[in-house]
Amino acid sequence: MNRLPIDLKNADLFKQEAFINGQWTKGTEKKTFPVYNPFNKMIIAEVSDLQVSDLDHAVQAANIAFPTWAKLTSYERSSILTKWHNLIIENERDLATILTLEQGKPFQEALGEIRYGATFIDWFSAEAVRVYGDIIPSPDANKRISVIKQPIGVVVAITPWNFPNAMITRKIAPALAAGCTVLVKPAEDTPLSALALAVLAKKAGIPKGVLNILPTSKPVIAGDFFCAHKNIQKISFTGSTKTGKYLMEKGAATLKKLSLELGGNAPFIVFDDADVDAAVKGAILSKYRNAGQTCVCTNRFLIHANILDAFNEKLALEVNKMKVGDGFLDDTQIGPLINEAAIKKVNFLLNDAIEKGAKIFYSKNTSVDITVISPIILTQVTPDMALSKEEIFGPISAITSFSTEEEAIYIANNTEFGLASYIYTKDNARIHRVTEALQYGMVGVNTGIISYAAVPFGGIKESGFGREGSKYGIDEFQILKYICTDIS
Ligand code: NAP
Repeated sequence: MNRLPIDLKNADLFKQEAFINGQWTKGTEKKTFPVYNPFNKMIIAEVSDLQVSDLDHAVQAANIAFPTWAKLTSYERSSILTKWHNLIIENERDLATILTLEQGKPFQEALGEIRYGATFIDWFSAEAVRVYGDIIPSPDANKRISVIKQPIGVVVAITPWNFPNAMITRKIAPALAAGCTVLVKPAEDTPLSALALAVLAKKAGIPKGVLNILPTSKPVIAGDFFCAHKNIQKISFTGSTKTGKYLMEKGAATLKKLSLELGGNAPFIVFDDADVDAAVKGAILSKYRNAGQTCVCTNRFLIHANILDAFNEKLALEVNKMKVGDGFLDDTQIGPLINEAAIKKVNFLLNDAIEKGAKIFYSKNTSVDITVISPIILTQVTPDMALSKEEIFGPISAITSFSTEEEAIYIANNTEFGLASYIYTKDNARIHRVTEALQYGMVGVNTGIISYAAVPFGGIKESGFGREGSKYGIDEFQILKYICTDIS
């Protein structure tokens, strides 16, 4: 596609070619795949579709670049990351425009994602210079023992479409800070934000081969290739639990080190001592961000029976104010779902719940349009319904009631997932009891927003393992080396 589908101040950010070894490339076979605007289904780009030979070229480039990048002082890497961060902020509106164009989320939300994504680069530019080792008291008088941390090597980052910018920066900022070189396989639906990041990375001075962006329409072949490759030391994956398990199985052959940020099934528990207005505010933020398409979005509302009516009514009043539609319109709060398969899945979950006895408490319009779903509130939701077990990934609130704290904890933990959870209560002792009992990697207490660069983001159980962000995030890209020196 030669003409830009949208006005940008910096048209250079709109790239359709892959980025390997510091060069823009169409790949050996010069094939492309289309990228769509999820709101109107128009083709917005034809992106280079890489083949295995191109991926191999990228691995070689990253492998050659690794020793030099790793040998820079952490101050030098930090300074380059800071330049990259500043360029992202300077270009934030263009980056948000590209993001809304390919992903559909409302422009202000896209801008929020660009700023959130940039905080990881800022955070890890600072963490780069705080990678400390240890001196360990020696059990032998003639030995001295130290531990150093070194970059693990060439890293692959595989990312989903729901955060086309931030899921990438959350991985590659710590990897680059640690001294690793990186290959990014962005989601097929949203490769443009990744390519735009590479334009600014090059401008910031990230050397050739250190960061490579590899769009491809063959994710399984690419995944198999990465898992089998001996020069790739680590795969950091964000996406579905199904794909995470697949990569773990395939990666076993080379004992690939993995970080897996997988799906969730977040409970949002409101006790009868809670501030219901605050809970509704938190519910809107946690449920409807990105049209319900985030891994930490509330999946199951568990509301104490004493406040059920009040909560439902207040939630419906707020949901009724939300505008659904084109992410580029100023008043849109809920954009389109990502693609037809997503619409079908949400439709299936809705019908299944209704067939099994759920009641529609609120709906402006239950008919599902081609790309956008209006918000729906379902009550009398039970554990046997598919939407109680699977991620809804759409703007449907599924509400169940409970009577005791033990019951709420039981229902909340009755899932194989363990990513985010939320509770609303004013009782301090209950906060401790319930947060400790919840089998989740993250608990929001009286808040529906929990993601920051400074915190360890990640799950337990089948939501995966590894942590992103925080002082722990860089560990995922380092090895510990113990050195024992005889001084006799
Ligand atoms: P997905 O189907 O697993 O895809 C994620 C990424 O993996 C995409 O780039 C995809 O490529 C690629 N992929 C698919 N099959 C692969 C394979 N066999 N080998 C290697 N790569 C493969 O997940 P999704 O539906 O795009 O993303 C939504 C999921 O991500 C949800 O479950 C959500 O909860 C989860 N998520 C988790 C977090 C977290 O931090 N825990 C954050 C955001 C999202 P294609 O695009 O080409 O299919």
